[in-house]
Amino acid sequence: MALATETKRLVAQFEYTDEDVNIGVKEFLRQLDEGLSKNGSSMSQIPTYVTAVPNGTEKGLYLAVDLGGTNLRVCSVRLNGDNSFNLTYSKAAIPKALMVAKTSRELFQFIAQNIETFIKTHHYDHYEHHIRRRETMSNPEGYRDEAILRLGFTFSFPVRQVGINKGYLIRWTKGFDIPDAIGKDVCALLQDEINLLHLPVKVAALVNDTVGTLMARSYTSPGKTGALLGAIFGTGTNGAYIEKLSSIKKELEGVYDDSTGEMVINTEWGSFDNQLNVLPTTTFDVKLDLESVNPGIQMFEKRVSGMFLGEILRVVLVSLLQDKSVQLFHDDNSSHNDWKSTTTIAPESGIFKKWGLDSAIMSVAALDNTPDLGTLRQELDSQLDVYSPSMEDAQAFKAIACAIGRRAARLSAVAVGGIVLQSGKLTDPAYADQPIDVGVDGSLVEHYPHFRTMMHDALKAIDGIGEAGAERIRIGIAKDGSGVGAALIALVAQRMEEKQPTAIESMQQVRSELSLKNLGAIDEAVVPDAAV
Ligand code: ADP
Ligand code: MG
Repeated sequence: MALATETKRLVAQFEYTDEDVNIGVKEFLRQLDEGLSKNGSSMSQIPTYVTAVPNGTEKGLYLAVDLGGTNLRVCSVRLNGDNSFNLTYSKAAIPKALMVAKTSRELFQFIAQNIETFIKTHHYDHYEHHIRRRETMSNPEGYRDEAILRLGFTFSFPVRQVGINKGYLIRWTKGFDIPDAIGKDVCALLQDEINLLHLPVKVAALVNDTVGTLMARSYTSPGKTGALLGAIFGTGTNGAYIEKLSSIKKELEGVYDDSTGEMVINTEWGSFDNQLNVLPTTTFDVKLDLESVNPGIQMFEKRVSGMFLGEILRVVLVSLLQDKSVQLFHDDNSSHNDWKSTTTIAPESGIFKKWGLDSAIMSVAALDNTPDLGTLRQELDSQLDVYSPSMEDAQAFKAIACAIGRRAARLSAVAVGGIVLQSGKLTDPAYADQPIDVGVDGSLVEHYPHFRTMMHDALKAIDGIGEAGAERIRIGIAKDGSGVGAALIALVAQRMEEKQPTAIESMQQVRSELSLKNLGAIDEAVVPDAAV
């Protein structure tokens, strides 16, 4: 069967052997260390200035906004202080047009509007109280702090963070492209739009989703050692882990508390091996990269994450459809078609459109173990306008999709295994027999069947980990991780603010020190936003 033979050949191209995994890990560790030593290497290894993880006793009500690559999530989190939390949540798809809009205002306005709707729907009393105060104050900007909700802003793009709520966008990823935002402080962009809507919200912390995931995992399951790594496998992929301060050889420009001897590092591993020293590269990977908005970068991500897996599969399918000797989704196969009807693919099928094949259907393919692949065949029909696909078509689709998914999971193990080895925890007697905790989040790892099992299988093959080491690596979904993590970091930010004197306190202090008794009362209302 021509199609079956060709499928086998393609599947083999996506094979990523145990030996490949080990070569990958060695190079990952090399590039990880390079990123700790200097700026400008392929893995950015961004210091976060977060030097401690939570222990589950934290309390309070916080807002969180998560701008992912696909969805915008707004939520409020009540931390109960006993490792538990209550979360209220809303989700909206980010309109494609805003991802490539002329200016970033449209995008940040959209976020602020979603925050407004959320507060009015779920925290109306808070909102109304705030409005009432504003209306009864002589100066509308003069209200004090108590009505303000602190917000943790999860912004999952590379930023140069210079403070807990200040960070300049380095570049867009995941298909976003709004040039005027590059180099701007994304917290200020959001705060400006929030202020225009007069919302009682302060953008208190800028959070990468990986850091949020690490925090959330540590809050909900604080073992003796806390979590080591927070990792995302959603639209994109990235990880943040706890590094020893002594291993960070490049300069740390911000202020931080060094008492723990550790700091959370945002690896930006999506850009691991942009130079392609070791990453597997098929002609399909090359084609996808050339047609992306950022050729040559995020090369690891382009082989691993949800945004790209479907596109790799689509590019493979297009090449099969162009090969007339193969007859994919073509009537010639309907002699073998137990559905006994004509097989066709509509010209408007997503298979013919860039980004037209969502990775979600790969999960359907991997999950369908029915003898006639009935579920997948129905999905091909409803999602991709392939009418009456034959059994052979569905088998080919499934085999190629699974090969791409399996390669992604095994590549993920390169990153996770590399971080575990870097931590030295497997051989540290202080952690003997302790689990090594990894929190993960993202639709791919959550929904793709056996993604974590395939990762684990590859971890076992890594020199220095092995079966026994892999047993100790506990990879758990950090459910609602980005929301809870952002809330926790907003809490840290609030504590930092409380440690620093407010503008009023500073002025009072200065006045008493200088004994300027005749200066008169300091009017709260004249103190600008600094106190808020
Ligand atoms: P975000 O990255 O915006 O936080 P998600 O974690 O939900 O959002 O990831 C969305 C990505 O996951 C999309 O690229 C989508 O194609 C992919 N995805 C969604 N559902 C599935 C699924 N069932 N199987 C595989 N991939 C999926
Ligand atoms: Mg996400």
